[in-house]
Amino acid sequence: MSMYENLVMQTQMNYSKYYRLYAAGKTPVKLSEKKALPYEKQISEFARKIKEADCIVVGGASGLSSAGGGDFYYEDTPSFRRYFGKFADRYGFKGAFNGMQYPYKTRGEFWAYLATFLHTTQTAPVRKPYLDLDQILQGKDFFVLTTNQDTQFVKLYPEEKVAQIQGDHRFFQCSRQCCDETWDAVKPVEKMMEAMGNDTCIPEEIIPRCPNCGAEAFPWVRGYGNFLQGRKYEEQYEKISEYIEENADKKILFLEFGVGRMTPMFIQEPFWNLTLNLPDAYYIAVNTQYDFLPEQIEEKGFVIGKNIKQVLEDIRIELKGGC
Ligand SMILES: [Zn+2]
Repeated sequence: MSMYENLVMQTQMNYSKYYRLYAAGKTPVKLSEKKALPYEKQISEFARKIKEADCIVVGGASGLSSAGGGDFYYEDTPSFRRYFGKFADRYGFKGAFNGMQYPYKTRGEFWAYLATFLHTTQTAPVRKPYLDLDQILQGKDFFVLTTNQDTQFVKLYPEEKVAQIQGDHRFFQCSRQCCDETWDAVKPVEKMMEAMGNDTCIPEEIIPRCPNCGAEAFPWVRGYGNFLQGRKYEEQYEKISEYIEENADKKILFLEFGVGRMTPMFIQEPFWNLTLNLPDAYYIAVNTQYDFLPEQIEEKGFVIGKNIKQVLEDIRIELKGGC
């Protein structure tokens, strides 16, 4: 098992043990009581750490995408209505994930919805917080780890610079996991969208199927109980592990954006662990809801409890000037 996957496994065990605490939005880790610097000082400190760092590991979680307008997953927002309005009107659900769980009467209806869901992220432009982050990272040696499946980072960077450990909406796998294969989902999704038109159903004969066993395909993503953790999955963990191992003794900066309380095991707690244990590591997190900084690393990091979109814009301006 790769180094980073091992860190995730360790925190996963901790998470199960203290599940009630995490579910209540807390953490079993002893937090720092140090008072945070004023916002302007945090921004200049953030910019200074970027300049000084030999290398940067970016951890992008759900808060980063929702900050940029990808806020249609859990709630009935204007963007949800824009992309999923006809389904919301017909079936009454609120939020894109809600639509994934709806008991559709036919597979044609389910796939019409699923195709719309995938098409929305596959074709979305790169959003503002990602563009600002990209400007901030220019000229730096960096690597991205993300739990977001919405392909925002891979629209900006080659795949060798990005580890997508929760999957990627551009790929299908076999729903029965009969084989360790993933394949393109973009073209089949386009075909389904064309066939659907203004309707909320597609002809069942174009439902994508596994080339090996004929079962229905399924997006290569965690969250529905059948995520294929095969070769492609291992590769994601190998990429992030190699990057950290190669740079372990350097001035390495861990940047965490928008980790929620239900998934601290993929980015947040491994980053805490690495910051504590690597000699010249530093940690900065941006989180609108939770400003959690462990006491053990209070001299090696800080948390900005503000809107991610605003913070990234302010950092970009601080580093590059202009507006
Ligand atoms: Zn199959």
